[in-house]
Amino acid sequence: MSLIVQKYGGSSVADPDKMKAVARRVVETARQGHRVVVVVSAMGKTTDSLVALAAQIAPSPEPREMDMLLATGEQVSIALLAMAIQSLGHPARSFTGAQVGIFTDTAHTKARIRKIESDRIAQALDGGHIAVVAGFQGITADEEITTLGRGGSDLTGVALAAALKADVCEIYTDVDGVYTADPNIVPDARKLPRISYDEMLEMASLGARVLQSRSVEFAKKYGVPLHVRSTFKPDPGTLVTMEDRGMEQAVVTGITHDRGQAKVSILRVPDRPGIAAQVFGAVAEQNVVVDMIVQNISRDGYSDISFTLARGDRAKAVAVLEEVARRIGAQGVTHDDRVAKVSIVGVGMRSHSGVAARMFSILAKEGVNIQMISTSEIAVSCVIEDKYTELAVRTLHEAFELGKDRSTA
Ligand code: ASP
Ligand code: MG
Repeated sequence: MSLIVQKYGGSSVADPDKMKAVARRVVETARQGHRVVVVVSAMGKTTDSLVALAAQIAPSPEPREMDMLLATGEQVSIALLAMAIQSLGHPARSFTGAQVGIFTDTAHTKARIRKIESDRIAQALDGGHIAVVAGFQGITADEEITTLGRGGSDLTGVALAAALKADVCEIYTDVDGVYTADPNIVPDARKLPRISYDEMLEMASLGARVLQSRSVEFAKKYGVPLHVRSTFKPDPGTLVTMEDRGMEQAVVTGITHDRGQAKVSILRVPDRPGIAAQVFGAVAEQNVVVDMIVQNISRDGYSDISFTLARGDRAKAVAVLEEVARRIGAQGVTHDDRVAKVSIVGVGMRSHSGVAARMFSILAKEGVNIQMISTSEIAVSCVIEDKYTELAVRTLHEAFELGKDRSTA
């Protein structure tokens, strides 16, 4: 008998009718003869509302209390979903993260899973129940409630699938799979039947917001097959799985974009050892994650350093850097919020050469200026002016022949 873990996101259980529809889908799966563990997120935008509520009480609440608060959202969902399943005549039992033994470290609001004691779920399944488990939460060795970081229910699903040696972890969401590009921008974007863990990781970190990155890393590490599919449609979605030969045939698998970026430059920085460490040390101290970095060639002992970061962090970064600039004798700090990052992703780049050059010439032909470039083994990213994002994504999608009728897959 196969064991399936199904994870339903907040939009899938946003109201009672949707909750009931999820219950029907879960029961249908169980009646097909599978053992089913369901992981569920908080209803709709509940977590956002709880965060906003806390902000009205205290400017920076203690992380322990934040977790106490945020974990309630998922507890509501599991109870309601278990009731909905029971109303359909199937036995079900709900469990919090603590009850099923999802043990984490003590890093409140961004805890990491340390170990899972799955006996309690196994017992429920052996008793013919559907186990309904709260996503996003765990417990420390000292019995403190923790949460796994925003979007963390994906990780709960994957981690449970790994611990229970499930056949598959199905991630149900409001999109029906992973696409070659954002279908809102590229009308003939194609749903990918399969994609490798590495490609999914790149796409997740480069702006395709389908799966939480940490959950994909975890799935790769433990070889858990992930199936991303729609809650509202029966069709198969995208299987995220081990790389195979067929995947390398396509040069590029997908195009992603991220419009939430900003660029910061420090001008005329003295070119001597330790300066970059001071600059980026100061930024890191603000918990700001830096993305691409470019340092220009030094002229007369000075050079410019530019980097990109999430737009929401830009003000914080510029504020500390103005101080650093004064201290190290740089000329000043400038910033630009009108930038976007466009990337091509594909394991095929390992075996095809000249892919980056092709990307640059495709953009050049459209008159799109490239401000920064970064590459990994299976991705090339360009920072461009924000207003060209759509043009760039569409043209790259077309030029790399990713559209519907061109597909060779
Ligand atoms: N409810 C949590 C959040 O909104 C966890 C999740 O949805 O995965 O971040
Ligand atoms: Mg959510």
